[in-house]
Amino acid sequence: MTKTIEISDETYEFLCRTAHELETQNNRHTDTPIFRIYETQKVERREGCGDHVERLDYDGAEEHYCQGCKDILESTDYDYDQLPEVFSDACDCRYSDGATWTFDKELLPASGGYDGVAFLTEKAAEEYRQDNDYHFNGSGVVYAESAFRNHELKPLIAAIKEIAATGAAASEGES
Ligand SMILES: [Zn+2]
Repeated sequence: MTKTIEISDETYEFLCRTAHELETQNNRHTDTPIFRIYETQKVERREGCGDHVERLDYDGAEEHYCQGCKDILESTDYDYDQLPEVFSDACDCRYSDGATWTFDKELLPASGGYDGVAFLTEKAAEEYRQDNDYHFNGSGVVYAESAFRNHELKPLIAAIKEIAATGAAASEGES
C-alpha cells in the first residue's frame, strides 16, 4: 500500500539535498554514521604519566607556586605572563604540591554545550565546524561515529532517501 503526501517545496528540496549527501558521502566504513565535532582536550594524568605540565590557575593556586614565581608575581602586580616556562631552571613549581598539574592532549567529542551535537551528513557537520571554529580548541575536527544502535535513525534516513527518490521519479513522469 502506498500513501500520497504533500510537502512544501522547501521541505522537498531539503530532503533531496540531504538524500543526495547521504548517498554520495564517504561513510568511513561505518554503519549509520553520524558526524560529530571533536576537539583537543586536556585530560589529567598522574604525575609522570602525562606529556604536559602546567601551573594550576585556580584562585589561590599561586600560594603553592615556587618562591621564584611568587616573587615575580609580587613584583609585577600579578602578571602571570611574566612567569618562566614551568620546565625552566628559574622555576621549581613542579616540585611543589598543588602548584602544577599533569595532562595529555586528546581529541575528544567537543564539550561545553556542544556535547550531543551530531549531524546526519559530513557536509553539514563540516559547515557547522567552520562557522563555529572559534568555539573548538584547535578549531575542531569532524569524525564519523556509528549510530547503528539508534533504531530511530536508520529508518529515518531510509525515509529521507525514499521520499526524495519517489519525488524525483514523480517529477520525471510529469515532464
Ligand atoms: Zn615556579
